[in-house]
Amino acid sequence: MAMSKKNKRAEHGFATKTIHAGQSPDPTTGAVMPPIYQVSTYRQPGLGRDWPYDYARTINPTRRALERNLAALEGGLDARCFASGMSAISAVSHLFKSGDHLIVSQNVYGGTYRLFEGVLRKYGLDFSWIDTSDLGAVEGAIRKNTKMIFVETPTNPTLTLTDLAKVSKIAKKHKLALTVDNTFMSPALQNPIGLGADMVVHSTTKYINGHSDSVGGCVITTKKSTADKLAYLQNSVGAILSPMDSFLVLRGIKTLALRMECHNRNAMKIAMFLENHPKVGKVIYPGLKSHPQNRLARRQMRGFGGMISFDMGSLARAKKFLGRVKLCALAESLGGVETLISHPASMTHGAVPKKERDRIGVTDGLVRISVGIETVDDLIADLESALKGL
Ligand SMILES: *Cc1c(COP(=O)(O)O)cnc(C)c1O
Repeated sequence: MAMSKKNKRAEHGFATKTIHAGQSPDPTTGAVMPPIYQVSTYRQPGLGRDWPYDYARTINPTRRALERNLAALEGGLDARCFASGMSAISAVSHLFKSGDHLIVSQNVYGGTYRLFEGVLRKYGLDFSWIDTSDLGAVEGAIRKNTKMIFVETPTNPTLTLTDLAKVSKIAKKHKLALTVDNTFMSPALQNPIGLGADMVVHSTTKYINGHSDSVGGCVITTKKSTADKLAYLQNSVGAILSPMDSFLVLRGIKTLALRMECHNRNAMKIAMFLENHPKVGKVIYPGLKSHPQNRLARRQMRGFGGMISFDMGSLARAKKFLGRVKLCALAESLGGVETLISHPASMTHGAVPKKERDRIGVTDGLVRISVGIETVDDLIADLESALKGL
């Protein structure tokens, strides 16, 4: 009886979960933060006696606390953490075998493209690169041997959205797994599992850790059988997140709700500033009325995030502008507390041929900002003075 009463209690809010889910005060000292179990092995109570801790590649309490926390934040059953976002995506791909076919959003993170085409194709996995915002195209790409749809939404850097509820219907109809790379939104702004996804991956390097001081990744699952397979992969392949990184990410997550509110607020102001500036071309931000999928963004996301792309018209103007900003740092990566600015055509998408870049909208004049949580007026003043000189 007591159990059913407990189950009926309203679920905790997101911010509460970021701070408490998966963690309880250390039983030895009452320490409120999970200790960093910087250890490789554990003394066992006796031969043949049951003991959960055997070796730290297999299980580490700091990592486990983070994994339980992430599972709760995304509404999944379990999570597994890996040494980078790429090793998390690699673990997902290890769930499939030679001869399987996967449908992938055509404009995913460049590293995902490199892993799938440059590494996994030679092991017999097949990929179709599809505009997953076009549901007809997704359904049309399904073959007899298709096993998974892998979606990134919004995409980088053109911020194209895929309707997750609708893609998940297609996946269910054809008995395919749906995996969503939710890195750009973080669990604070979008929860793909609630919309029907089976797995969610994150580069914790970005918003989840949020402080540009750790590289990591995770996979959140909804099925016990997949969770077990991912644990097996952690142990067999060995690309686990270290105890120190697990601690850093747990620490970062505690302010995720606050940080995302500020990223949303700052980015909206900056997007409007840029859209009204005569020296700036097209501005892409899901929160702007001018974004072609603004209504889907309002339905599917709880905030529009911190990523903005805008067109400076040409490579020369983009270069000059990037050379003039002072507070915004020219850098790859995103999702940190500091504002980063980049030139996708030569940086993140440098390996993509120009013709293909133009086709997907990564023009030579395109500039991308990962808006940080600084005082927004300072950021606008920096952009304003950089634009003035053009
Ligand atoms: C950065 C990123 C990755 C890769 O993560 P790493 O932690 O750098 O390995 C994957 N997907 C998206 C959307 C990313 O932004």
